Amino acid sequence: MNRARRSRIVATLGPASNSPSMVRALAEAGVDVFRLNFSHGSYQDHAAALKAVRGAEMAVQRPLGVLADLQGPKLRLGTFTEGTIAVERGHRMRFDLDPTPGDATRVQMPHPEIFAALRAGMALLIDDGRVRLRVLEATPQWADVEVESGSGLSNRKGVAVPDAIVPVSALTPKDRDDLNFALRIGVDWVALSFVQKAEDMAELRRIVGGRAACLAKIEKPQALQSLDAILDYCDGVMVARGDLGVEMHPEDVPVAQKQILRAARQRGVPAIVATQMLESMTSAPAPTRAEASDVANAVYEGADALMLSAETAAGMYPLEAVGIMNRIAERVERDPLWPGLMDAEHAGMEIGDVDALVAAARKASEAASSSCIVTFTTTGSTARRMSRERPLQPVLALTPNPDTARRLALVWGLEPRLGRQPESLEGLTDDAVTAAVEYGLAKAGDRILILAGTPFGAPGAANLLRLARAPSGPSGV
Ligand code: PGA
Ligand code: MN
Repeated sequence: MNRARRSRIVATLGPASNSPSMVRALAEAGVDVFRLNFSHGSYQDHAAALKAVRGAEMAVQRPLGVLADLQGPKLRLGTFTEGTIAVERGHRMRFDLDPTPGDATRVQMPHPEIFAALRAGMALLIDDGRVRLRVLEATPQWADVEVESGSGLSNRKGVAVPDAIVPVSALTPKDRDDLNFALRIGVDWVALSFVQKAEDMAELRRIVGGRAACLAKIEKPQALQSLDAILDYCDGVMVARGDLGVEMHPEDVPVAQKQILRAARQRGVPAIVATQMLESMTSAPAPTRAEASDVANAVYEGADALMLSAETAAGMYPLEAVGIMNRIAERVERDPLWPGLMDAEHAGMEIGDVDALVAAARKASEAASSSCIVTFTTTGSTARRMSRERPLQPVLALTPNPDTARRLALVWGLEPRLGRQPESLEGLTDDAVTAAVEYGLAKAGDRILILAGTPFGAPGAANLLRLARAPSGPSGV
């Protein structure tokens, strides 16, 4: 089953959607990658969900990706005797390391790393920014703070420190356990939350050791500042607008989204736009028109994938949300202005040989009106470089490796399928033509463009471009 659109859809699984029949219906409605959110749910739930996705793959006859999203170092306050306290502007209190339940004068903040990073004058944001505090004085054991806005604090609310890099490891002990589990059940992608610096992703990569592709969630202003260095260690990136919006002003988030998408496109790293895309559909069967516009804009910007969170994990209308996201993407991609607008985000050609060849492939495929581009890829890298050019024809990415096929399910414009590694130039042409016809991307007599690398069978850079024609033989295919 081929998609009629080039952009991809990621859906988060949760109580509203993780039954095998629902997972299958979601895949049929258009989901390409399923997200397991390790901030919620049990290992048993995640293992069952992964099994359901692998089952749905058979039904939709295309590879589906599974992305494990690790919670990351979410910093939190301790607890209060009364569970909650009322505060108002100007209220002063102390944060310390004492686990005794707190009151209006003091409460625990169980993170010595935060105290080490705090300086007088810095801001602290509690509960997704609902309460804003200013640090009056800070020591390694405590900090005195004054409330600037907000009206109440309660047990275990999240703490953000927008003005400092907090020297915590990006992987908490829980993340390490979750990661081991996710790799054991065989997820295709691993996403890390609250990445602050390149070293955070380097550490994830070291542990993953090639067993999954690694994605950075950009949700801290600090990560934006080191975006280029972080992308060096990324197979994918997410514009995590929920948490990003906590520490940034609303007007800065769309600018950050463009900045991340452009940097990712420059590198050929697939990018997901996430959070609140169709938020109102958690409780309504149709989106607001502003939400429809947000989804459409991400498609116009050439994002690889659009993500649904609560809409599919816990909402009342998971199938409708996917259906509408699918319709919006298809609609934008029928707009004659879409290719030009997407190209405005193109960062320009890279100097490397492969990119020159890939750019030529895009041009040739358009000039010759071929019906598709076929690439042979072992690690997926040739296919990703091809996708970066945003060719208008679908790209059939043939790979002998099922893990590669599933990872590529996230990437713009690719139709990954299993196919053997060709052994000769003749074999390559035959295989490409046969596969393109078999998978419904070319009809008899159509031209197709082939991108491959020689020597055959050895992973390496693409160095071969070939224009072929699907035979209009008596078989009548
Ligand atoms: P989350 O990440 O859903 O795991 O919080 C996405 C975001 O913050 O936007
Ligand atoms: Mn987040």
